[in-house]
Amino acid sequence: MHRVEIKKGQQILTSNEVGNCAYIVESGKVTISDRVTSRSSYTVGPGEIFGEYGIIEEATHYSTAVACEDSLLVVVTQAEIEEKSTLADPMLRLFLNFFMDRCHSLTVRHYGTDEQQKAFSSRRLDRENKIQRSKAEIVEQFKIKEELQSALENSEFVLHFQPIISLRGGYTAGFEALIRWEHPTRGLLSPFHFIDIAEQTNMIVPIGEWVFQEACLKSRDFDAYTARTNAPEVFISVNISAKQFAVPNMVDRFKAIAKETGVDVPRIQLEITESVLMEDAETSNRMLRELKNYGFQLVLDDFGTGYSSLSYLHQFPIDKLKIDRSFTLAMLNDQDSLEIVRAIAGLSHNMDIEIVAEGIETMEQLSLYRDLDCHYGQGYLISKPLPVEKVYDILGTRMAFGKI
Ligand code: C2E
Ligand code: CA
Ligand code: CA
Repeated sequence: MHRVEIKKGQQILTSNEVGNCAYIVESGKVTISDRVTSRSSYTVGPGEIFGEYGIIEEATHYSTAVACEDSLLVVVTQAEIEEKSTLADPMLRLFLNFFMDRCHSLTVRHYGTDEQQKAFSSRRLDRENKIQRSKAEIVEQFKIKEELQSALENSEFVLHFQPIISLRGGYTAGFEALIRWEHPTRGLLSPFHFIDIAEQTNMIVPIGEWVFQEACLKSRDFDAYTARTNAPEVFISVNISAKQFAVPNMVDRFKAIAKETGVDVPRIQLEITESVLMEDAETSNRMLRELKNYGFQLVLDDFGTGYSSLSYLHQFPIDKLKIDRSFTLAMLNDQDSLEIVRAIAGLSHNMDIEIVAEGIETMEQLSLYRDLDCHYGQGYLISKPLPVEKVYDILGTRMAFGKI
């Protein structure tokens, strides 16, 4: 999405040309002369749309548009609409595709020139194939959405817990809660098989809420155990999807669950990714501050991938950041990656933000992170994610550096 400034009298689009974008008027006025509405010409102003056929693949414009005063227009491209439509709920996507197609064919039939009608018919087969594919995809998504729904109702999800140790003392400081699906026929499924589809179908919202609630309950159990055995207390880190931040009462829901479960709130860390900070920065910031004020710790996950602006660390109330696994993998052989990790570590020390190093698989990687004075480490070298009953063997243990 971008903006263009248009001078009074300038022509913006011409009838019959193939478009690839539509326009929203931000300020100013545009006169439209078109063949589709009964009006021969009319004017659109702020908040109104024109050139909408430009977002339908291979459709031509049916209007001519001329600015009748200096105007500012928001340009929305076909690709952007397509991207947003793929991210939308499958039901919404089905309806959107249906109406766009219906609208396109009716318009061509009634208002298209002979040439446009011929071109439209010649692409019929392509179009039908595409619609068929997208219908099949959408039906598949419905099926998976239903399966995820019933998995939730039938308690088929479980949490595994991956230990996170203190790189200073070696003791188990906490765990990352990672979801698994005990599928009735396919066995234990990793999130790799279902998280993306749960995001696309918005099922991540109820699933994420279940994960959070389950983590709170387990945190209470772990607390009871550590108190009984005089072991150090542990935190639990929970992954929160950007989609959950789009739910207006998410913060209240989390507070209510924390209250119901009686969890010691500061024991729970919420892992968010940069996408949360980028999408609607103002709303996210407000929600994060509310969560932080309530006592939750906030962790920025997968740091170093994506856009990774260090300014996020100033803008948002982040307690910890997780250096992405790709840096752990690269830093021993690649000087640039090492320098980035060194810079992040240095900066975080100055800003009072703690670092969690992810994906530690070798002793060399662990030693390097210790040399850089990073606070926490997580990875297969220390332990793979464990089913809950195995967690109790780990609580209160300490990793003896150098003896492995
Ligand atoms: P993530 O948040 O980056 O989680 C870390 C992933 O790295 C986990 O995979 C973990 O098993 C894996 N891992 C840990 N140590 C190592 C290592 O040393 N080497 C390698 N190669 N991998 C390591 P997992 O459990 O398959 O989770 C994958 C992703 O699924 C997570 O990535 C997270 O984005 C998502 N996910 C998992 N549970 C949840 C959840 O409850 N909610 C949401 N929204 N996403 C989740
Ligand atoms: Ca994570
Ligand atoms: Ca991560």
